[in-house]
Amino acid sequence: MKIVHSPQVMTAWSLRLRREGVTVGFVPTMGALHDGHRALIRAARLQCDALVVSIFVNPTQFGPTEDLAKYPRPLANDRRLCRAEGVDLCFEPSVAAMYPEGFQTTVAVPAIARRWEGAARPQHFAGVATVVTKLFGMVRPDIALFGQKDYQQAALIRRLVNDLNMGVAIIVHPTVREKDGLAMSSRNVYLSPEQRTIAATLYKSLQAGAEVIRKGTTDIQAIQLAMATMIEQEPAVTVDYLVACDPLTLDPLSSVTSRALLLGAVRLGSVRLIDNLVVAAPRTRISQRCG
Ligand code: AMP
Repeated sequence: MKIVHSPQVMTAWSLRLRREGVTVGFVPTMGALHDGHRALIRAARLQCDALVVSIFVNPTQFGPTEDLAKYPRPLANDRRLCRAEGVDLCFEPSVAAMYPEGFQTTVAVPAIARRWEGAARPQHFAGVATVVTKLFGMVRPDIALFGQKDYQQAALIRRLVNDLNMGVAIIVHPTVREKDGLAMSSRNVYLSPEQRTIAATLYKSLQAGAEVIRKGTTDIQAIQLAMATMIEQEPAVTVDYLVACDPLTLDPLSSVTSRALLLGAVRLGSVRLIDNLVVAAPRTRISQRCG
């Protein structure tokens, strides 16, 4: 596996391969790789000839009080995982190479970034949109994979790529979970053993909402109540938001007609967890409506 730090070397490698007809796949990450990342890498491996994984802890997507300094950086392990999964090139640019002196351009996707994670973390999505634009410019991939775990991020990137005609096919991979349902995340290492035992409550509350929808309830208050009731069983958990919204616009729904995105963010001490589920309303309801 090639390890590249220089953006110029990265681009030259990719352009040379693409000129030869080789398809380049790309999985951008912030490192501290786990089985969720591994699943994206494996899925990408099957869909391209040459595979690039980037490891870059992007400072511009962290708020001033967030965990940038202590974000885990187990680089040797990450490289081992990439090598074992058949990654061809690991791209590890420095902060100075990404944001050289004089850097000033940013990319904004205002409507999708307005709510939920965007409201809780101002500047976060501008940081994400900008770094992904830059990484795409450096890596020049044909396809790029993102995780559904970060649903709003994936929606924003689809919009960005479409709006700016970036010519990269975006593939969103389902969320990979621990046995108890907790979505895998590099930040789960911050959880104390006690917090870890209750962390899956977020997933359980999303499932409680999904269950109500599958039984035919269209009423948003009832769905949100089911989720809230489940999460309130764990007093150590503080809810940032736990909502049913439109899977495309991410706007709050007034009732569930076809599909709902159940979206949640909670805090357990200083650890913030996010998760989501997309749920289809029962078929009979759709055919009744169409008929
Ligand atoms: P990160 O390193 O946290 O920036 O994540 C890099 C990519 O991996 C993003 O597209 C994430 O959505 C994705 N990802 C992280 N955790 C998971 C997971 N548990 N399941 C699926 N994808 C994930």
